[in-house]
Amino acid sequence: MNTLVTGIAELVTNDPSLGVVHDAALVVDDGSVAWVGSAGDAPPADRRTDLGGRTVVPGFVDSHAHLVFAGDRSAEFEARMSGARYDGGGIGTTVAATRAATDDELRGRLRALVAEMRAQGTTTVEVKSGYGLTVDDEARCLRLAAELTPETTFLGAHVVPAEYAGRADEYVALVTGPMLAACAPHARWVDVFCEPASAHAFDGDQARAVLAAGRDAGLGLRVHANQLSAGPGVQLAVELGAASADHCTHLTAADVDALAAGTTVATLLPGVEFSTRSPYPDARRLLEAGVTVALATDCNPGSCFTSSMAFCIALAVREMRMTPAEALWSATAGGAAALRRTDVGHLGVGARADLAVVDAPSFRHLAYRPGVPIVHALELAGRH
Ligand SMILES: [Zn+2]
Repeated sequence: MNTLVTGIAELVTNDPSLGVVHDAALVVDDGSVAWVGSAGDAPPADRRTDLGGRTVVPGFVDSHAHLVFAGDRSAEFEARMSGARYDGGGIGTTVAATRAATDDELRGRLRALVAEMRAQGTTTVEVKSGYGLTVDDEARCLRLAAELTPETTFLGAHVVPAEYAGRADEYVALVTGPMLAACAPHARWVDVFCEPASAHAFDGDQARAVLAAGRDAGLGLRVHANQLSAGPGVQLAVELGAASADHCTHLTAADVDALAAGTTVATLLPGVEFSTRSPYPDARRLLEAGVTVALATDCNPGSCFTSSMAFCIALAVREMRMTPAEALWSATAGGAAALRRTDVGHLGVGARADLAVVDAPSFRHLAYRPGVPIVHALELAGRH
């Protein structure tokens, strides 16, 4: 059974580049895009879904999220909005709550967040561990994440937990040894919070050790890089061939040159700067240097608790001067590049039929109508 989707006022395929088709139609067969073109040329199909003149874009690819956790940090947010500075230290609060939670509590929260994302147009999401920080709790968080997404990331090196205070190198030995061994079977990626400016995170040598061990265990590499200062994270990510360097808020000219020369995607997370009242990354500088830029939410209970990719698009346009087209591409094809996926982030023939419907005549409304729930994932009968 295939399905013809009609009534598409504007279709963005990202195939190639933005690939805008007006008055478009699309055939979905067995969970994949089988045909794309003008409505007038559409072939017959077993079923038909009419979207009534709406816009269709590729489902968002949120390549950076921390969704396995318990607890609440709204009071920390309130304090920050009154002037307290963000330095990553509040992560310990979530670690304590996560360790104390049952599997069912963590699973329930995780499922609710993934459903919340889907209801806002996100069809692929990466989920990190990083709030367990013991061998058993990190493995548990990744097992739960793997129930919902293949894009699971081992982030044992999120912060140095309180019980290892002053003994960061001992903690790195745990992360690269027994913890990695327990987690690698449940993870596709390894990540590290490389931030010498934070007393809680990891310096360049420690980050290198974590990434090298993860690579040796068969995992792909991602890095929390240059969020709070122009540290070594970005250049380390490029040197080691990481799929993505995430944050990229404080960059030197050498960092930009390295990203432009390498294969590492720069993933910008403007929801974090919004929610920590910090200066935004310089997206234009990266785009003009030819760097591949992705946008993601960094959905997490501390520095940014939004699950909305549309909100991040609006921020990228308003605060980072990306065009609506650049922002949409980065939230879809850019995220796919950051996860080294070719089957999502576009709607060319053969792609996964992950369609997001915008209740508007143009994709521009994603940025033009900030905070308005106009985009959702299309649920098609027979979709796999
Ligand atoms: Zn993060």
